[in-house]
Amino acid sequence: MSILVVGGAGYIGSHMVKRLVEQNRDVVVVDNLSTGHRGAVDKGVKFYEGDIRDHAFLKEVFDQEAIDTVVHFAAFSIVPESMEKPLKYFDNNTAGMVALLEEMRDHDVKRIIFSSTAATYGVPEKSPIEETDRQAPINPYGESKLMMEKIIKWADQAYGIKFVALRYFNVAGAYPDGSIGEDHGPETHLTPIILQVALGKRDQLQIFGDDYHTPDGTNVRDYVHVLDLADAHILAIDYLKAGNDSDVFNLGSSTGFSVKEMVEAAREATGEAIPAKIAARRPGDPDSLIAASQKARKILKWNPQYDDVKEIIKTAWNWTQKHPNGYEDH
Ligand code: UDP
Repeated sequence: MSILVVGGAGYIGSHMVKRLVEQNRDVVVVDNLSTGHRGAVDKGVKFYEGDIRDHAFLKEVFDQEAIDTVVHFAAFSIVPESMEKPLKYFDNNTAGMVALLEEMRDHDVKRIIFSSTAATYGVPEKSPIEETDRQAPINPYGESKLMMEKIIKWADQAYGIKFVALRYFNVAGAYPDGSIGEDHGPETHLTPIILQVALGKRDQLQIFGDDYHTPDGTNVRDYVHVLDLADAHILAIDYLKAGNDSDVFNLGSSTGFSVKEMVEAAREATGEAIPAKIAARRPGDPDSLIAASQKARKILKWNPQYDDVKEIIKTAWNWTQKHPNGYEDH
């Protein structure tokens, strides 16, 4: 039986696929390459190019392959874009989830692990954020993911499709050998932008606001290494395979870093100056997002290996230096 990784050519999905291959697990990838890269997936892995909202395409994949678990990464994830194009997010993320679950129901596939997000909490009630805290998104991206969480709950109740929803905080870093990494076009995420400045591909970083309610006024986020994140998904697969019930887990480091602290860590990790200037706030950004991640550590036995943000940045820097133009396919 195979694990179907939907969105396996994306940043997090490709790290998951590589990890699964390393562990000799059977993997099949689906990706529409709208934001992913064919070059991020090993040529030896079975790859279907297509969109999960295309019923005929998805049915064909489930007909052809013996799939027992789905890991779903295929979603848009850019907060500011979602503020401008909310329907794009409800279509791809929320409706995409419905299409995927319909196919799983029709093919009797009973397990799914999927990417949720800290953005489902909106402005947190308290810090660190626990899984049981109020979910009240302040942007369409978070709302689209919260809807996915709600839909899967009812699909579980009606069809017995068991799920693990993983609420990611801020994902960063790359495969330590520099073979795969983060490459979005256009890039909006903090770490790769900082490293493009370090590389000289951008003049300076714009820090989006320094008047937030945080110690230095810049947004605080909880950064977790992409491989630690991939490992949590593998633990979640085994957790469901062991017959455990559906559940939701935060994935973060439980430590917050401000934008200014990230720039400082990147200066140390790269030895580069990294000029930065304060710019206007970006719409949709909460002051601070820090995970309580004890639940994943306790129940999934998740044991993240990267606890130093500088080490996380170093792995991304290795990828950036080896691939200054990313995958060179856009
Ligand atoms: N950020 C910034 N300058 C940039 C990109 C991001 O100051 O060029 C800030 C952003 O406002 C947020 C943090 O960095 O506070 C992380 O943003 P990112 O887009 O990486 O992730 P998000 O938190 O939106 O998922």
